[in-house]
Amino acid sequence: MEAEHDVLVVGAGCAGMRAAIEAHDAGADVALISKIHPVRSHSGAAEGGINAALGNASEDDPEKHAFDTVKGSDYLGDQDAIQVLCDEAPDDVYQLENWGAVFSRTEDGRIAQRPFGAAGEPRTAYAADITGHVLVHVLYEQVLKRELKVYEEFFVWKLAVDDDRCQGVIAWNLIDGGLTSIGAKTVIIATGGAGRLYTGTTNAYACTGDGMTMALRAGVALEDMEMMQFHPTTLAPTGVLITEGTRGEGAFLLNSEGERFLKRYAPNAMELASRDVISRAEQTEIDEGRGVDGNVMLDMRHLGAEKILERLHGTRELAMTFAGVDPIYEPIPVRPGAHYHMGGVDTDVWGRTSLEGLYAAGECACVSVHGANRLGGNALMETITFGKRSGAHAADWALTHTTIEVPPSLETDAERELKELLDRGEGERPWSIRNELAETMHENFGVFRREDEMRKQGEIVGSLRERYDRVVVEDKGQVFNNDLTQALELGFLIDLADCMVVSGLARKESRGAHARPYDYPERDDENYMRHTIVTWRDGAPKLEWKPVTMTKWQPMERTY
Ligand SMILES: Cc1cc2nc3c(=O)[nH]c(=O)nc-3n(C[C@H](O)[C@H](O)[C@H](O)COP(=O)(O)OP(=O)(O)OC[C@H]3O[C@@H](n4cnc5c(N)ncnc54)[C@H](O)[C@@H]3O)c2cc1C
Repeated sequence: MEAEHDVLVVGAGCAGMRAAIEAHDAGADVALISKIHPVRSHSGAAEGGINAALGNASEDDPEKHAFDTVKGSDYLGDQDAIQVLCDEAPDDVYQLENWGAVFSRTEDGRIAQRPFGAAGEPRTAYAADITGHVLVHVLYEQVLKRELKVYEEFFVWKLAVDDDRCQGVIAWNLIDGGLTSIGAKTVIIATGGAGRLYTGTTNAYACTGDGMTMALRAGVALEDMEMMQFHPTTLAPTGVLITEGTRGEGAFLLNSEGERFLKRYAPNAMELASRDVISRAEQTEIDEGRGVDGNVMLDMRHLGAEKILERLHGTRELAMTFAGVDPIYEPIPVRPGAHYHMGGVDTDVWGRTSLEGLYAAGECACVSVHGANRLGGNALMETITFGKRSGAHAADWALTHTTIEVPPSLETDAERELKELLDRGEGERPWSIRNELAETMHENFGVFRREDEMRKQGEIVGSLRERYDRVVVEDKGQVFNNDLTQALELGFLIDLADCMVVSGLARKESRGAHARPYDYPERDDENYMRHTIVTWRDGAPKLEWKPVTMTKWQPMERTY
């Protein structure tokens, strides 16, 4: 065993770093481990902002934030968790400010807040359109200040489970090669999302759902895996995100006839309706022939050059670089793209999973505050608030327990498995299976879902799994062997795709991101206001259900 720690945090994005800081401050010996450098974590790509009812732009309070989140979730969010998020958000944002986060300001010097989709008040605090970048750097400074151990560029492949407890991880050293095990009294998974299940995605290459699958393989349940959010404004063909902040600042969405088509789908909220509503509206326009080369147009010319340059400077750069369009003078072509996984590792409000010693926080977790549809700005807040809470609980548990046991057989078994993969001389390269998985998920499990297409996708995933069993890694080297890690990531993605299809088929209704307009167009609260739960049994996903936690908000029709 390389080392032992009280708390080992897998993943060093906003959730992981916030968890590590909290665990350290609670007195634990903490380490972070990450397959990429912490500041390259995908949290850094977050643009638009972070939601907290600071009340700086209007009369706002956590209760209103909670109601918007419950409604936005299409009543699949757990209301106790949502209350925790919204109550703790203001203090958590001020904490970030005290650590040095340079939020944009109001005239009188307070943190500025912009309107975001489906939010009743302007509640999204922001640092221009580079909020995630700012937060990642501020958190990394705090990690450095505390001199926390960071295992940089280590790829965690397996959780080390012994005596029904998670007691560490087995990881591949990306720089020097070789497997190593690191023991810990508690492990927090904060490995982010799995957008790479799809072709058109806003997510980086690193977002391959590793932690979700590792938990699944360790016997822990995944929740609401059918709930993949499509963001309405992504650039074709790269999937680069154009922030919701553009619409918060007043940008319009137009079809090929120059019509603000949202007046037919969300006449009150228009461009500030929730993401699921706008993505479906766009896809309908495109499918019915009112798109422009498979896109609709995002028009911000009327905002004027000054506002665009001040508040949406990064967005303009992205549009110019990736679409060759300057939004000061021309509308940007956009379409729905896979963006955020509302589902993930089933946890309680302290990040605890059903496996003792294992916690999860951030996008890889499902606590569940987003239910069937996440509101823009709530994901960053979730990483901070639930990162903090899981760090506190994991430290507390670790400090009251003494032993760590990672049996050497776990490492030798992993070594044998890896050797078998590396020794294989012939077979299919991982990338072709990965591409096919992503393309077919887009076709058969996208914005709109059909029973026959989801079934077909289940068969496709089955055949890709068979091909994966014969996958070949051509690079046999030890140093930065991306061929190897991409093969391992592909294994994670295939398991997740299976879980998504099984969950999607079981949910015979339309709710939030799960839209079945052809067979089950309505939300069915009587039968499906409950979470899908998937565990891995005998090499296949097993589906169960879990009730939604309701406190004070009864389901209502969502109108925008
Ligand atoms: C383009 C874009 C813009 C967004 N904008 C906003 C926004 O404005 N507001 C908002 O609220 N939300 C936004 N979101 C969503 C939000 O940014 C993410 O949900 C959130 O930042 C995820 O943080 P995280 O800490 O959970 O994961 P990440 O930041 O993705 O970090 C994951 C970490 O896990 C590590 N890791 C993964 N697998 C392994 C492994 N096998 N071994 C070792 N380490 C591993 C990675 O190295 C990384 O350090 C946006 C998302 C995208 C894609």
